[in-house]
Amino acid sequence: MITTVRGDITSEGLKNVLPHEHLFSDLRPLVAPIDDEDFYKPLSLSNFGKVTRNPYAILDNALIGDADVVTKEVNAYKKSGGNLIADVTTLDFGRDPKLLLEVSERTDVHIVAGCGFYVDGSVSEQNKALSKDEIKDIIITDLTKGINGTDIRAGVIGEIGTGMQMSDFEKKSLKAASEAQAETGYGMHIHACLWNREGLNALKFAVECGADAQKICVDHADVLLDEDYILGVLDMGAYIEFDDFGKEFYVDRKNRNLLLGSFATDKERCQFIKKLIERGYKKQILVTNDICLKSMTHTYGGWGYDHVVTNIIPMMEDFGISANDIDTIMTQNPIRFLERG
Ligand SMILES: [Zn+2]
Repeated sequence: MITTVRGDITSEGLKNVLPHEHLFSDLRPLVAPIDDEDFYKPLSLSNFGKVTRNPYAILDNALIGDADVVTKEVNAYKKSGGNLIADVTTLDFGRDPKLLLEVSERTDVHIVAGCGFYVDGSVSEQNKALSKDEIKDIIITDLTKGINGTDIRAGVIGEIGTGMQMSDFEKKSLKAASEAQAETGYGMHIHACLWNREGLNALKFAVECGADAQKICVDHADVLLDEDYILGVLDMGAYIEFDDFGKEFYVDRKNRNLLLGSFATDKERCQFIKKLIERGYKKQILVTNDICLKSMTHTYGGWGYDHVVTNIIPMMEDFGISANDIDTIMTQNPIRFLERG
C-alpha cells in the first residue's frame, strides 16, 4: 500500500512516479540577499537569464505557492504519462496538506505528502527545542492519523535535512525520523549535502538508529556525481537519487552562498546512470526533478514536472538504456520505495 493525500492505494496502474518533488514550497528564508537590482523583483522574462546561472539571484524564484499554477503544472505531468508525485516538502518550508489534496482532486494525480524537518536553517527556534521523542511523535502522527489535525496523512518521511556537517538539531531530527521509519515501515528521504560525502555519514547514522537501509533514499547525488560516494551509499543497500534533472547551473564564484558550486548536466547524469545499471545497481536508482524553483515550471519558462518523462526518458534511450530498465527506474523503484514495508 502507498499512502496518498486521498488515502491508501495499491500500486496497480502507477506509471512514471516522481519520488521527490515540491508542489508548494518556500525556500526564501534560506536565501541570502545578493547585490543585484533585480533581487527583490518578481521573476520575469527580463531577469530569467540570471536564474539560469544562479537560481537564487531572484528571491521570488524560491517560492512556489499558487494552486492554479500548480494544478496546471501537475496536469502537464499527467498528460506526459505519469500519475503519482511525492511532495517531500516538510512542515518548516511550506508543506500544505489541504492544497495538496485540492490539487490531487482537481487533477486526479496521486500525491504523497512528506513529514519531519528539513535543514537546520529552515527550522524555527521553537521547533529546534523539541525533544527527539516529540519530533518522532509528530512524524508518526502525520503518517498514521493526519497532518495538523486533518485526516490527510503523510506517506513518506522527509526530506529530512542534513547539512555540510550534521548540526545537533539535524542529528536529533534524523534520529527521530529513523526510529519512526523503523516503527512504521515508510520510506525515508535524506536530504544530503550536495557538495561533500556527509550523506553517507547520515545514512550510517540512520541505520545505527534502527532505520532499514533498503527504505532510505539518499538525495541529490547528481550534482557532483562522486563515484566513490555513490557506491558507498549503494553498497549499504539504500537508494541513490538523481533528482536534479533540469538543474544544470553554473554558479559564479561571487554568488556561491546557498549553492557552493556548479551542477552536472542531464547528459552526464544519464551516462552515469547507464554505468550504474551495467554494474548491477538498477534497482536502487531513483530519478526525479526535485522542483523547488518557479523557473523550473512551464508557467515561468521551465521544463515542468514532466521533464524527466518528456525529455529524460528519450535521453536515456539515446544512451542505450533499455525500455525494461527505464521501467524499473521510473516506475518499479519509486513504487517499492514508497510502499509501506
Ligand atoms: Zn527536495
